[in-house]
This record gives sequence, structure tokens and C-alpha cells, in this order.
Amino acid sequence: MDEQIISTLHFKNSFAALGGDFSTPVTPSGIENPWLVSVNEDAAELLGIDTAELQQDWFLRWCSGNITLPGSAPRAMVYSGHQFGSYVPRLGDGRGLLLGEVDGPRGKWDVHLKGAGQTPYSRFGDGRAVLRSSIREYLCSETLHGLGIATTRALSIAASNEPVYRETTEQAAMLIRLARSHVRFGSFEYFHHRGETEQVQILADHVIEQHLPELAGCNDCYLGMFRHAVHSTARLIAQWQAVGFAHGVMNTDNMSIIGDTLDYGPFGFLDGYNPEFICNHSDHGGRYAFKRQPIIGLWNCNALANALTSLLSVEALTEVLEEYEPLFFDNLLQLHRQKLGLVTAEKDDQSLIDDLLTAMTANNVDYTIFFRKLCAFQEKRANDPLRDLFLDPAAFDGWAKRYRQRLLRESEQHSAAERRQAMLKTNPKYVLRNYMAEIAIRKAEDDGDYREIDRLLKLLQTPFDEHPDCEEYARHPPAWSQQLSVSCSS
Ligand code: AMP
Ligand code: MG
Repeated sequence: MDEQIISTLHFKNSFAALGGDFSTPVTPSGIENPWLVSVNEDAAELLGIDTAELQQDWFLRWCSGNITLPGSAPRAMVYSGHQFGSYVPRLGDGRGLLLGEVDGPRGKWDVHLKGAGQTPYSRFGDGRAVLRSSIREYLCSETLHGLGIATTRALSIAASNEPVYRETTEQAAMLIRLARSHVRFGSFEYFHHRGETEQVQILADHVIEQHLPELAGCNDCYLGMFRHAVHSTARLIAQWQAVGFAHGVMNTDNMSIIGDTLDYGPFGFLDGYNPEFICNHSDHGGRYAFKRQPIIGLWNCNALANALTSLLSVEALTEVLEEYEPLFFDNLLQLHRQKLGLVTAEKDDQSLIDDLLTAMTANNVDYTIFFRKLCAFQEKRANDPLRDLFLDPAAFDGWAKRYRQRLLRESEQHSAAERRQAMLKTNPKYVLRNYMAEIAIRKAEDDGDYREIDRLLKLLQTPFDEHPDCEEYARHPPAWSQQLSVSCSS
């Protein structure tokens, strides 16, 4: 093998070293005659791969599952989880493999190959990923990163003409995902529900050693780990709510133990503000509706608590669970204040925000567009571009009057210009609306044209900046986007 490859990526396999109870060795089954669809240079940099190397043959062969790099020990991880509220005793990596951990210039990353073929956990699945859902994950994980939200990252997509059968015949693809950890709430649930308490402890020790070294050796290290999971989940979901992101499948097997957004499927960003928004068309009961994400986050933390009862007392677990709600609400209120450009705190801020969101719901006001336009709010003018977003502009006028008074009380703290600058860094101009991903997918599938993927990638990595050549994506979504439907199938 090429010397350069050997020097590029240094794998560690600390998870593999936990042994066969936790994961199973599986060799990736590569896709035939692959080509590179897109590669994310920002993510490559995290691994210390430079741009020139991305064009080399080894990179394509590697990211399409056709070679295993020296030092990498591919494993399928086992986990279980609550899917739509019901416990499924064994899930696991059915179509993805942990290739190992790579020490990059700024930290260590799990490298995961998604779509790498069947594993002992594939159940009835083919182990494959399709181009469509790979593009969605690729773009959305980089969108959340661009928005400053903790997430897995995406390095590359490779594709092939191999057919994959879903509702229709689709094209096979493989995605390389980077994560700080692939340990899920469901990883703990798996061992707990089998009565394998020793493995629960080994897994907890692993998470602490790898991700929370400051807790290692402390008496209450397991409580610290649980508290970290609960707090980071509460903070993460507050960020999702503030930016209008719906995950779509918040099953406990899709919840990262360190609180990163994980497993992108039928996600969606809000267009018009609507708390009832259900992005996943398979979610008939609306379990994962936008407004339910915070409570589901807590429900999931509760499932995790249950899985840790061999390590911690119910009293201690309950005490930590009780921290979730206030922390979530504090975080969300603070994020909403930032969206309004407020630097001080007043007790009526919550009602100022609630009343705005109620009016936005009633008037079907686009969430992203409204807040971006709010950055240019004028204290002394009528703010036509904002009021025009409301079916009933009087609803905006009433709220704007209160907002204006609230801003006046802040004016000693910061000027309107300072407020505007801060708001432009908080309220993105661009988010990945479903129709945007769809445009990129159609060009990719129909014409083999991947330029829109790269264009969206660049745009969404800096969503707070102006991009004059992408102005169309800052407007209301086109009417045809209403017909799009995304489901769990991928
Ligand atoms: P997801 O909904 O993608 O989080 O997947 C839930 C579970 O189904 C995980 O255990 C996946 O590994 C598995 N799975 C999803 N799609 C496939 C597939 N095409 N082949 C095998 N397993 C799959
Ligand atoms: Mg999953």
C-alpha cells in the first residue's frame, strides 16, 4: 500500500478494544465502480487529510468501502433502543461500520462508513444507503455545524450504479461520517435490558475515558456522565428549537451520549412557524412533532436513566433528570433573547416571545425569513418588510410596539447598530429547507450533476453570511416544495 496513505490517517481502535460484546468485526462490502460525488474539505481537515490527497485513488477506494486502511479495524456496533416509544431489544449498525478513531490536528474523530453492506445487525435490510438520503445527511450535518449546533460531520459521498431497492430503484452511495462518539443512549439500553450490568459499567468507563476525562477516577463519575448527557441533550434541543430544526426520528438509538445531533433521516426545517410541524411522514401520531422535541428529549433521558440503574440510585438519577426542564427553558429563553437582539433580561421577555410565536403561527410567517428581516428592525419606522409577512399586519404592529419599547429600555446597553450586528450572527439567512436538498438530489440522480451539492455545502457552512449568488434560497420556498414528503425509508 502507498506510503502516503500509511502516513495520513492514524487509526486507534479504542471501541473495538472493548471486545466482541460491544461490536463485531465486519469487512466493508464496497460499491462497484464508484465515483466521488462530493467531498467536504472542512471535514477532511479535521482528519488532517489535505486537499490534494482527496483526489487520489486511495481516497475514492476507501470512502466507497473498497479498501481498508492500515490500522483500521472496521466494526459494527451493537445497540438497542426505543423506537417510537417501543423497546426494540437489538438494533445495531445494520448498514454502517465504525472504521476506527482518527487523531486529527484538533481532536479525535470516530470515522463511520454508512452504507457499507450487511452486518449481523442488518435484520431484513440490505445494508446499503441510497444517494438521496446520503446527500440529505451530508448537507444537513454541515448545516447544523454552520449554525453552531453540535453534530456529527460529513466527509464524503461516493456513488455507484449498483441498484438499491426502496419504494423505487435507487442508486447506491456511501457516506463517511465523523463523530466525536457513536455511543448512543441505546448502547446502554442494550446491555441493561439484557441484565449485563458489567458491560453497562465498561461502556460508561469507556465514555468517561474518551470524552469526559475530567471525571475519570472521581467517586461520582457515573453521575457526572449522566448529568453531562442530560445537560447536553437539553442544550442541544434548545438549539434545535431556536433554529427551527426538527430531527424527525428521536428514537433513543439516535441519541448521542455526548449530545451531538446524530442520524439524519427525515429531518426538516420549519418554513412557516408551526409548532405542530411533523417532518417525518411515517410519524402518523406526531410523536416527534416540532413542539414535542423537548419533552421527547426528556423521555429519552429517562430511558437512559433506566439503563443506568445498576450504576446509580434512582434518587440520584431523578435529581439529575429534574435539571433537564429548567436548563432547557433557560437555554431556549436565552437563545430567543439573542434572536430578538436583547442583551438584558426582563421578566416579561417570555411573554414577548410567546406572543410573537403565537402571531407567527396564526399568520403562517416564515420562521427564518422573519428573524433575518428582524435584524433590520427600525425603531422609528413602520417596518413594512416585516409586517408584510403577516396575513394580518395588525398582529405584527401590536407586537412591534412592545418590542420597540423593550429595545428602548436596552438602548443604553448597546446601540441599534451593535444590536443589528449581533442579530445577523444569530439569525441565519439560510437553512437547508427540504426543497433545496431536493434540487440537489434531482440534479444528482437525473443528470449526475453534483455542482448543486457543492454549492449548497459552501452556502450552508456559512449561513449567517450574505451570498448574493444564492439569494433565491433566502426567499420563501416555492409552491412545489409543499408536495415533498420524507419518511424513515432511506
Ligand atoms: P435509522 O432509522 O437509520 O436510525 O436505522 C434504524 C436501524 O435500522 C439501525 O439499526 C440501522 O442500522 C438499521 N437500518 C436502517 N436501514 C438499513 C438497511 N438498509 N440495511 C440494514 N439495516 C438498516
Ligand atoms: Mg439510527
